[in-house]
Amino acid sequence: MATHSTRMLIIGSGPAGLSAAIYGARAGMEPIVVQGLQPGGQLTITTDVENYPGFRDVIQGPWLMEEMQAQAEHVGTRMLWDTVVSVDLSGPKFTATGDGGDVYEGDTMVIATGAQAKWLGVPGEQELGGKGVSACATCDGFFFRGKKVAVIGGGNTAVEEALYLTNHSDDVTLIHRRDSLRSEKILQDRLLANPKISVLWNKTVASFEAGTDGALASLRLVDTQRGEESMFATEGAFVAIGHAPSTELFKGKLEMDANGYLLVEPGTPKTAIPGVFACGDVMDHVYRQAVTAAGTGCMAALDAERYLAEREFAERAKVAAE
Ligand code: NDP
Repeated sequence: MATHSTRMLIIGSGPAGLSAAIYGARAGMEPIVVQGLQPGGQLTITTDVENYPGFRDVIQGPWLMEEMQAQAEHVGTRMLWDTVVSVDLSGPKFTATGDGGDVYEGDTMVIATGAQAKWLGVPGEQELGGKGVSACATCDGFFFRGKKVAVIGGGNTAVEEALYLTNHSDDVTLIHRRDSLRSEKILQDRLLANPKISVLWNKTVASFEAGTDGALASLRLVDTQRGEESMFATEGAFVAIGHAPSTELFKGKLEMDANGYLLVEPGTPKTAIPGVFACGDVMDHVYRQAVTAAGTGCMAALDAERYLAEREFAERAKVAAE
């Protein structure tokens, strides 16, 4: 069992954590990134990425994350692999303990543990991921231009995804398991008034079915009232039943909203504990993009640097006064 010390301890290695690392390393903070169970985060399970600035051609999510990691290491980040099982935020050093007992301690901590899209867990869903089944219309909607697509869910995310998809498709169907939507009224009004969108009520998806080309061809639906099965032909299906932030470790230690997202001072990555910052999807349930995660990661590193500079200045002033 070892103890690893740093001025900036980053938990999570998606775009938020790695951007914090790049900025922190360049500011001489010699960051440590503890990568979790899914090094690289959600982008490592996507394929084509076309909306991350700086690349004229379509790039691959896993490749982008490899590049970000290489860049972070190149400027002086230490990447360590471990599963953090507990954290201690009582300070003055903030610590994380891995499942093998290794301890990581930082003068500052940047939490970038991200969020996971929830999946239905039915046959075909996992196998057809990237072949017609997606959990992000903003990321993948463009690839279904002119095609018939479906969105599954009835909350704000599902309605927003359906509305967004009308930029690419004239035939969008929202499939919801009940006969009323959970989403805000204003979004419902927009959805129901949109001639490109139809709604299938009281239906659950029992399976995702592939065509002869191995890509998604149809959904097997079950009517929740009558129990009848039906097939719904579609080449694109967007599962939008919510996201779960990875915040289990911070329960009782940091403030969260009702859905478990970490609360920060508005417009900043600052948590209620000075020196502890949160960035990326773990604190942002609205935008959830790689580029916004990278942006808040950068903000966390800049604020961590300022926090340490102010603390060290105050300590020097105290010593001088004694
Ligand atoms: P929600 O939890 O609000 O909605 C999830 C939807 O998926 C519900 O309609 C639920 O159905 C359905 N669902 C859940 N599990 C299943 C399942 N196994 N099978 C079929 N359907 C299922 O998640 P959202 O991601 O929509 O929103 C999360 C939070 O983020 C909310 O607070 C939301 O307001 C917020 N948000 C805000 C936005 C904004 O302000 N612009 C944009 C996006 C999200 P049922 O209704 O029957 O429970």
